[in-house]
Amino acid sequence: MNLMEGALSDALSRWGFRLLPGSLREIPGRGWVFAARGPREKAVGWVGEPDFLPLTSPLLPEPIRAGNYPANLYPWTWGNYLALRSVLSLAPQRCDRPASFGTGDRLGWVSRAQIEALRLYPVFPILAQQSPRELERTKRDFRDVLLQAAWGVLASGYAGAFGADADHIKTAEQLREAVEAGYTMFTLDLSEHLRQPVPREPSPLARAIVEAHAGHRLSVADGQGYILEEGRLWKAAQRYEPALEAAIALVGQLRAWRREFDLEISVDEAEEETTPEDHVFVVEYLRRRGVDLWSLAPRFPGRFEKGVDYIGEVEAFARALRLHVAISRALDGYRISLHSGSDKFRIYRVFAEITGGRFHIKTSGTSWLQTLRVIARVDPGLLAELYRTSLDHLEESRKAYPISLRREDLPLELPSNPEQLLEHPAARQLLHISYGVLLDAYREALQGALEAHWEELETAVREHIRRHLDALFVREVR
Ligand SMILES: [Zn+2]
Repeated sequence: MNLMEGALSDALSRWGFRLLPGSLREIPGRGWVFAARGPREKAVGWVGEPDFLPLTSPLLPEPIRAGNYPANLYPWTWGNYLALRSVLSLAPQRCDRPASFGTGDRLGWVSRAQIEALRLYPVFPILAQQSPRELERTKRDFRDVLLQAAWGVLASGYAGAFGADADHIKTAEQLREAVEAGYTMFTLDLSEHLRQPVPREPSPLARAIVEAHAGHRLSVADGQGYILEEGRLWKAAQRYEPALEAAIALVGQLRAWRREFDLEISVDEAEEETTPEDHVFVVEYLRRRGVDLWSLAPRFPGRFEKGVDYIGEVEAFARALRLHVAISRALDGYRISLHSGSDKFRIYRVFAEITGGRFHIKTSGTSWLQTLRVIARVDPGLLAELYRTSLDHLEESRKAYPISLRREDLPLELPSNPEQLLEHPAARQLLHISYGVLLDAYREALQGALEAHWEELETAVREHIRRHLDALFVREVR
C-alpha cells in the first residue's frame, strides 16, 4: 500500500467504509478512482478535483483528504457508473480470445471474486451472465446485473476487457433491455420452440440445405468420420426451421439496435440430444440467412444437472463433442459452448482438448452455492431454515429447471456438520434451483449474515472458480 492509499484507507475507515486494496486506478494528470465498501453499500471514490468527473450524490458531507488531494465517495448507481465508463474501461466488449468463461452473479455480490479468479487464466471473462428466468427470480434487471458486475471489475483492479451475456433470451423485449444496458453477448434459446414444434413443410431453403448435405462425409479427429444421413436432416429441417425463423427475427431486432455483438444459439435445454444433422442444419440455415454465430450450445449426451458433476459416459460425451467440433471447423469456426458448465470436473479436460482450446463455458449457480457454503459456516441455523424452505417449495422451484431430482433422495435434516449438506448431490441441486424462493423470504437475512464475512465469501467463490479453470487448463485439481 502506498502512502496515499494508506491515508485514504484511514480517512475512509472513520466513515465506516473500507478501501478495496488494489482498486485504485490513476487517470493520468487528473486523479484516482477507487472502490470502497460500506456497511450496507458499494461505493466509488474519486481523489482529485471534484468537478473533473460528473459523479453525483456524494456520500460524505465534506471531502476528506488523501495526502494533498480532496476525495469523496459516491453511491454505485447507474449514473455514476456511466460517468466512469467515459474514462475507464468498464463497459463490456466483444470477446477477442479463443477461450471464454462465463460467470453469473445472481445476487451481485461475487463478481469481484470471479474476475480475480478468471484473470489468472487465458480466458476472456464474460460476466453479468444472467437469463430473464434468473432476473425474474432475483427481482433484478439487466441494468442492475451489469452495474454490480462492473463494480466487481472496478473493485478487483482488473483493467482488461470483459463481456456481458444476456442469457437464454426468448423475446424482443428482453433483448431490448439487455441492449440498452450495454450487453455484448446475446444467447438466443431455441429450446422452447423445439418443445412445442409447429409442424410445417420445409421451405425451399430447408430443402436446399438437406440436399446439399445428405450423404456428405465429415472427417472427425478420431479418424472415423461420419456420414450425414438424409432422413435425419429432414427431421432436423422439420423441427428446427420454425425455431430458427423466430431466432432470425430476434437477430433482425438486435441488428437494428446494435452493430456488433457476440451471438450464441442454444439448444442445450432441448429434450433430445443434438445430432450432427441438427447442428449442420441449424448453422447452415442461419448462415444462408446471413446470420453468423459466435457460438453454439448443443445438447450433449448424458445429463448436465445443476451444481453436480457430469452424469453419463465421458467417452460418449467426447464422441459427440468431436463431431460438433468437426462441423464447426468445416462450416465456420464458431466456438462450442457448454451450458450448466459448473462442477463438471469429469469432462473439462476432454472438453478443452477436443475443442483445441476454443470454447465457451457457462457457470452461474455454483457461485450461489458457495454463498450457502459460507452461510453453513457462519450461521448454521439460517442454513437449516433455508433448507427447510427449499424442501417446502421443491415443486415450485423445479418448474423452471429441468432436473431429475427425487424428493426421496433428499435428507430431511441437516447433517451434524452443516457444510456437508453442500456435498450431498440431491441437496446441492435443490439449493441450486431454490434461489428464487430463498431470496424472496431471506434476502435481508442472507445479506446480514454475509456482511461480516465478505472476505470468506470472496475466497470461497474465487477458489471454486479456480478449481474449474485449473481442471480446464490441466492442472491437478485439489
Ligand atoms: Zn443453457
